[in-house]
Amino acid sequence: MTGLTGRRHSHTPVAILGAGLSGMSAAFHLRRAGLECRIFERLPKPGGHVVTVAERGYRFDCTGHLLHVADESIAALALDWIGPDHQWVDRRSVVWSHGRTTRYPFQANAYGLPPEVAKACVMGFIEAQGQDHGSLHDFEQFCLAKFGKGISDHFMIPYNTRLWGVAPKEISADWCQRFVPIPTLEDVVAGAVGVTDRELGYNTRFLYPTQGIGQLSDGLAAAVGDIELDRSVKRIDTGRQQLHFDDEQVSYDVLINTMPLPSLIDLCVDAEQGVIEAASKLRCTHLVYLDVALRSPCQKPYHWIYVPEARYPFYRVGCYSHFSAAMAPPGKACLYVELVDRQEPELKTLLPEVARGLLEMGLIDHPEAILFARVRRLDHAFVIFDHAYDASLAVVKGFLSRRKITTTGRYGGWNYSAMSDAIGFGRDAAAGATARLQEGAGR
Ligand SMILES: Cc1cc2nc3c(=O)[nH]c(=O)nc-3n(C[C@H](O)[C@H](O)[C@H](O)COP(=O)(O)OP(=O)(O)OC[C@H]3O[C@@H](n4cnc5c(N)ncnc54)[C@H](O)[C@@H]3O)c2cc1C
Repeated sequence: MTGLTGRRHSHTPVAILGAGLSGMSAAFHLRRAGLECRIFERLPKPGGHVVTVAERGYRFDCTGHLLHVADESIAALALDWIGPDHQWVDRRSVVWSHGRTTRYPFQANAYGLPPEVAKACVMGFIEAQGQDHGSLHDFEQFCLAKFGKGISDHFMIPYNTRLWGVAPKEISADWCQRFVPIPTLEDVVAGAVGVTDRELGYNTRFLYPTQGIGQLSDGLAAAVGDIELDRSVKRIDTGRQQLHFDDEQVSYDVLINTMPLPSLIDLCVDAEQGVIEAASKLRCTHLVYLDVALRSPCQKPYHWIYVPEARYPFYRVGCYSHFSAAMAPPGKACLYVELVDRQEPELKTLLPEVARGLLEMGLIDHPEAILFARVRRLDHAFVIFDHAYDASLAVVKGFLSRRKITTTGRYGGWNYSAMSDAIGFGRDAAAGATARLQEGAGR
């Protein structure tokens, strides 16, 4: 049907915004249950952050994307979408500090560091255990209380400042409990004298598709079927339950959003001023990184290396071709280099700096080892859990819930979560939409 505006008018029971893992998982689960939905993606390709690009025989993801799956039903789905070409990989990650490597996580592996640094780390940890820190306000206080001054000064504070792009004082203490492994005193002492074999943290083993993480999105996209690409919604009338595109007006019964929350609120024509203000306080870091192709193999076996020290322009370097040899031509390697500076870099001046760092770390044996490098940018990387986070998010989510809009995913839900979570978010959103449609039909 064509309306007065010359645009087509149509209706869908469920509209989904965004075809990253969350949106596609929602569409997959709805369609598998026999329900009709439409899924709209702004870009010409589905996958969101989970894509792999190829150039001259090298393959690059959007920095390291390793799949960790605790939930068996999600693992089964992911394996089905990825197919048989994949491997389980035991993490080999280290920290580069004081001109040498120490195992990750730094807080439980001071062995190999200069003795005075190792001593400061162990003594600081012991001192912190004996003190009453009261309630912890921010990430810096969290580090000092849980790890002590040595570990905080040598790793936790400089590294996290570089990773998040904001001072740890700006980040609330709450978010870290799930992701920052806290060692026992025994771990710290054993790690300082080099007698530990126990890997700490949630990501000691991961699943990686042979052709890169994009294989997961590609498999899911194929299972989903029709995805409307290059379709950017221009306005949303949440009261009338309508999406406005340039060429079409789509009314919906249920809306599932997975695009970043502030962008969604920008599009809602009927968002109140308080909601717009709250959305403007939701902060997220963007990330600039390099895809780096090497003419030769990577000279160290590590999957990725954390770099806390200010003299390097990057805070983490990873090697895709160690995740899967098929990511680079035989005898060559490819890396991701995550940059501290969030500005668009001048590659001509940056690249020699990067090569110097890679040489010092022993990843390359010659500055000419770099065949080519590309600058990449992720507009949304890490949601910042600052002190306004809870209150602002509550206002925005309250509005969307009153308008019966489900907002989910890493950026639609505005959280810190992983790919397996995204698959679960989509599944839960589909279940919620199904219940709402049944409720509506029963009225
Ligand atoms: C640097 C980095 C490293 C990571 N490493 C890992 C890792 O090792 N392991 C792990 O499990 N997870 C990792 N993650 C997290 C992982 O990327 C996310 O959990 C997952 O991709 C989230 O999927 P999503 O669908 O929620 O969001 P996205 O992938 O962001 O998908 C949202 C989609 O919405 C689309 N969209 C935006 N605006 C519109 C619009 N107006 N209309 C229509 N569509 C729109 C976007 O184009 C995008 O396709 C990492 C993330 C980052 C940033």
